[in-house]
Amino acid sequence: MNDALHVLQHTFGYPAFRGPQADIIASLLAGDDALVLMPTGGGKSLCYQIPALLRPGCGIVVSPLIALMQDQVDTLRQLGVRAACLNSTLDPRDAWAVEQQLLEGQLDLLYVAPERLLTDRFLNLLQQAPLALFAIDEAHCVSQWGHDFRPEYMGLSILHERWPQVPRIALTATADHATRQEMIDRLGLQQARQFITSFDRPNIRYRIAEKNRPREQALALIRTYPDAAGIIYCLSRKRVEDTAAWLRQQGIPALHYHAGLDSQIRQQHQQQFLRQEGRVMVATIAFGMGIDKPDVRYVIHLDLPKSIESYYQETGRAGRDGEPAEALLLYGMQDVVMQHEMIAQGEAPPAQKRLERQKLDALLGLCESSRCRRQHLLAYFGEDAAPCGNCDNCLQPPETWDATDAARRALSCVFRCEQRFGAGHVIDVLLGKRTPKVEQFGHHSLSTFGIGSELGESSWRVLFRQLLAGGYLESDAERFGALQLTELSRPLLRGETTLTVRREPAGNKAQRGVRSG
Ligand code: ADP
Ligand code: ZN
Repeated sequence: MNDALHVLQHTFGYPAFRGPQADIIASLLAGDDALVLMPTGGGKSLCYQIPALLRPGCGIVVSPLIALMQDQVDTLRQLGVRAACLNSTLDPRDAWAVEQQLLEGQLDLLYVAPERLLTDRFLNLLQQAPLALFAIDEAHCVSQWGHDFRPEYMGLSILHERWPQVPRIALTATADHATRQEMIDRLGLQQARQFITSFDRPNIRYRIAEKNRPREQALALIRTYPDAAGIIYCLSRKRVEDTAAWLRQQGIPALHYHAGLDSQIRQQHQQQFLRQEGRVMVATIAFGMGIDKPDVRYVIHLDLPKSIESYYQETGRAGRDGEPAEALLLYGMQDVVMQHEMIAQGEAPPAQKRLERQKLDALLGLCESSRCRRQHLLAYFGEDAAPCGNCDNCLQPPETWDATDAARRALSCVFRCEQRFGAGHVIDVLLGKRTPKVEQFGHHSLSTFGIGSELGESSWRVLFRQLLAGGYLESDAERFGALQLTELSRPLLRGETTLTVRREPAGNKAQRGVRSG
């Protein structure tokens, strides 16, 4: 282990390991597999770079981010590490030279795109080369339900089958339970030691506000950090360009970035941002994966992200240096409508669409929550935490109302509907609406029919989202989003616990009659 510390200090120039880095490295040096869940900026790269340097042979790093491979390789080379990459942007002669270096044992680290790795030619090459380890970066790309799904990742189980003696390390910053299980199953990591770092980023102040005049709201935040770098995320390319142009008119040096731009311009804007020539990057989510800029002071979402995972990953790009940073999300019901439309028009199979709607609802649950934002976020990732004192809800507690009674009615209505229906239908029953579906199932004769008519549909929607977000209800993706009671519902139904819910911002009420079914 002293060897690892020596490499850390002399090759990388850092005095000490962070968090679980030392344990992870020791595990790989002992020849074991590892599954590493660490938030963005946690320091995942060293976890495989150092063991690759210490073990005989070359470390093979599988990464989907071709655009960033070269940067990483350049950085490593400056440190004196013998690193190279192989991907489709390389001309055949250079690729051949890299392959020779691999065969001759002249490489410490080789970055490869998954589709390249899985070619017969490359697998045969690996067979003849001394191998230190396999690192599978962005391992959540193997998850079919995730938004970064890469079919080629499914083929990576071959690594274990062909080279059972070569240790593997899978790394990701996306860590809900289902994704973790999928990574283990699909990559054959049943024996791997798991290293799960807390997802808390205490230096980030979370703020989620209603969208009124989004550009002005963003500008106000930008102006509180006069010389600092920040990222603004928008949903559409047009909005990216318009917002950047508007900011420039206001005298803010803003750049823009989206997948529709020429790759040279994209590269150029990214470099300018990294070199601090333009300090605000307005971008779609095409920007940011793998970007290592430690001093980003704020991340603003002008549009709603797709899920809590995306929100967390995108806001995680702020404050990687540990200094105070801010994440501002602006949301309006128009965004929700738009996200629902995007899901509806997408090509995903129905079960996945339901899951995407649930993820969106979970995010809305966070937006509408009156609880500490950090507590709510961490709970979503399976972690307990105390109220943080560093989020909008902690700093300025929102107005709330006692929703215990309404929640009990909602839960009993779910129960009376035999836990077989989604929120839309249950709300119809609560409101006493005789829809064809209500009549078909005879729900107009339930004791809960019409017991919720003093609240509007939109208030019920918010309440159901809060019940879902708080774990009082679960929605079953396999059964058309049917709502089901949980362990937590019973004490609430019996009146042993209470529920307070954020009062709706006035502006949202009007637009809220949206069906999410
Ligand atoms: P991740 O891949 O988890 O997002 P990186 O591996 O890119 O994170 O590391 C994030 C930043 O932290 C990088 O600038 C890296 O050099 C730095 N870093 C990593 N480990 C250490 C350490 N032990 N001490 C100091 N800085 C570190
Ligand atoms: Zn808080």
